[in-house]
Amino acid sequence: MIIITKIVDLQVFLSKKISQTKTIGFVPTMGALHLGHLSLIAQSKKQCNLTVCSIFVNPTQFNDATDLKKYPRMPKKDAELLKSVGCDVLFMPTVNEIYPTKDTRQFNFGYLDTLLEGANRPGHFNGVAQVVSRLFELVKPTKAFFGSKDYQQVMIVKALVKQLNLPIKIIACPILREKDGLAMSSRNMLLSPTERKAAKLIPLLMQQSKTLKKEGKTIAEIKHYIKTELTNHTIYKLNYFAICNATTLKNAKKFTTNNTYVALIACYVGNIRLIDNLEL
Ligand code: AMP
Repeated sequence: MIIITKIVDLQVFLSKKISQTKTIGFVPTMGALHLGHLSLIAQSKKQCNLTVCSIFVNPTQFNDATDLKKYPRMPKKDAELLKSVGCDVLFMPTVNEIYPTKDTRQFNFGYLDTLLEGANRPGHFNGVAQVVSRLFELVKPTKAFFGSKDYQQVMIVKALVKQLNLPIKIIACPILREKDGLAMSSRNMLLSPTERKAAKLIPLLMQQSKTLKKEGKTIAEIKHYIKTELTNHTIYKLNYFAICNATTLKNAKKFTTNNTYVALIACYVGNIRLIDNLEL
């Protein structure tokens, strides 16, 4: 695996490779890698001839300065992990490299970034679009791999590729979970042992919402159940729980037979904000 920090080096390397490489797979990350990230690398390796992973904690997608500051960073360990799974290129640029000048681009995703994560983290998806479009322009991948854990992000990135008319296929990969069901996340390591134990309620509630739907409960009843479960314990602070149309992500009012639905949650456990989702 080659580690590259400068854009010019990346471009020289990729231009040399491009003649012999049919397809480039790209996995953008913010590091502090876990098996969820590595599953994206595995997919890329399966589907493409060359795999590029980027590690860049993108400041423009953080709407909370403390969150950015405390975001875990462990480049050495990450590089070892990526090497061990056969990643070909690790691109680890600095902030100045990605944003030599302030990125003032404003993207328009219509209603899609006014909901859920977009509503609760103002500017977040504009920052995601800034960094992803910049990285796509540099790596020029054939396919880019994203985790369904960030369900809305996958939809935003698909919309971005369409808007910019980029010849890149976006592949959504399944959520990898810990043994107790908690969706793997770099933020999990910020949880105290008590919070980590408590966090398993989140995936459990997602499963329960699926069961409740099967039992014929209404959306209002499911929401009421989830909210009550979380308000029973002070360690949790629910940010949102929503049941949406899985294709449009619009808030669903009632279940109909010819639509698919997804439950999405953002909940603080202590001070750590965790997200999860499950197709119902
Ligand atoms: P991040 O480093 O959090 O920006 O995540 C980088 C990529 O890994 C994103 O596409 C995430 O959706 C994906 N990802 C994060 N956690 C998981 C997980 N538990 N399972 C699968 N993919 C994940």
